[in-house]
Amino acid sequence: MVVGKVRFTKEAKTDLMADRGIIDGPDAGALGWLPDGSDFLLGYKLAYKAPHDPFRWSKLKELVDSCEDIVIDKKNVATDTFEVLSIQGKTHKMVKLTLGRAGAAGLTLVPESVERAIFPKLADMIVSADGKFRIFYTVLLGKADTSALAHELFGHTWLAVKRVPYKHRKASSKAAVAAQDTLDAKHGILDPFGDPFVGTADTFITSFVDPDSMRSMPSKTQNVGKTQYKDALAKLTKLAGGKDLSATKIDGTWQATPAFFDTLDFVSNNHERASATGTVITPSSIEADVTALYKKLAPVKQYAFLQVLNDVASIGTRRSNLARALLGQLALPRGMQPLQPPSVAPSSPAGFGSAPSGSSPP
Ligand SMILES: [Zn+2]
Repeated sequence: MVVGKVRFTKEAKTDLMADRGIIDGPDAGALGWLPDGSDFLLGYKLAYKAPHDPFRWSKLKELVDSCEDIVIDKKNVATDTFEVLSIQGKTHKMVKLTLGRAGAAGLTLVPESVERAIFPKLADMIVSADGKFRIFYTVLLGKADTSALAHELFGHTWLAVKRVPYKHRKASSKAAVAAQDTLDAKHGILDPFGDPFVGTADTFITSFVDPDSMRSMPSKTQNVGKTQYKDALAKLTKLAGGKDLSATKIDGTWQATPAFFDTLDFVSNNHERASATGTVITPSSIEADVTALYKKLAPVKQYAFLQVLNDVASIGTRRSNLARALLGQLALPRGMQPLQPPSVAPSSPAGFGSAPSGSSPP
């Protein structure tokens, strides 16, 4: 096991492990802990090479490998105070804060030296009180997996450890935004498909790091990546050709298994994360791949597939952008009645198809 200096307090460790605060699915099994006083140092198994969430896993590894002092601490939003260092020009002042007073569900504070390295022109700043990276977060509603923990650790902290702009857009002028917040190719930050990320730190965090609270598995990058997409598409092709997708006849009773819905969800998630400027995978390339898959199906299967897409577009717990895009593009098999447009409440009068929302990945 590789252990660095990413330190979780006992409560924060519980959030990570029991409530899958930052790593979900099988990847959590490859984490390890080294007790240190009342805290725990985060570690990972070096032999674990095929993570289901390669984006988050690589961030976690790089944080551990960085050997930076990173302390993750859970706080009550109103009652737990902590100190920060406020610097205004030459004036240094320790300030007591709560998350409530900071107006945040989570806060990342970096060492002064790191702040100055990333923003050399900055005169005023708020940094950590003890020269370490500090994360304070709270869990307001629900579980830690939809808290600010991932946002702070894999977003702000990871970017700051990389010594690149890591803050939300605060500046009002375009020039200031460009100077403070913009990541471009020279920063070497990659998206989940391995393409250089160009945009603000804010966009990077909201697109790839923030949890998706509507999902049973809130990481936006679970099963996302070049290899993961290829695997999901191959599996969807196989399932569509077998008994996981079927119908008695066109406009008859149709059926799709939870595995089919889950696999389509992985493909859809890749579609939602992909960038139009991607070098290999783009939203359009994924739509083209699934269209090609559809065209090879027998008409009765095409009918069932369209019903699945219509179902997904109607159900809030599934990622639906791909289904909506495809429903506008795919030609109905000969003789099929037009689909009822997706409604908020799922209705499949002639069949069924919705998988349980808690179903796990293959
Ligand atoms: Zn933030």
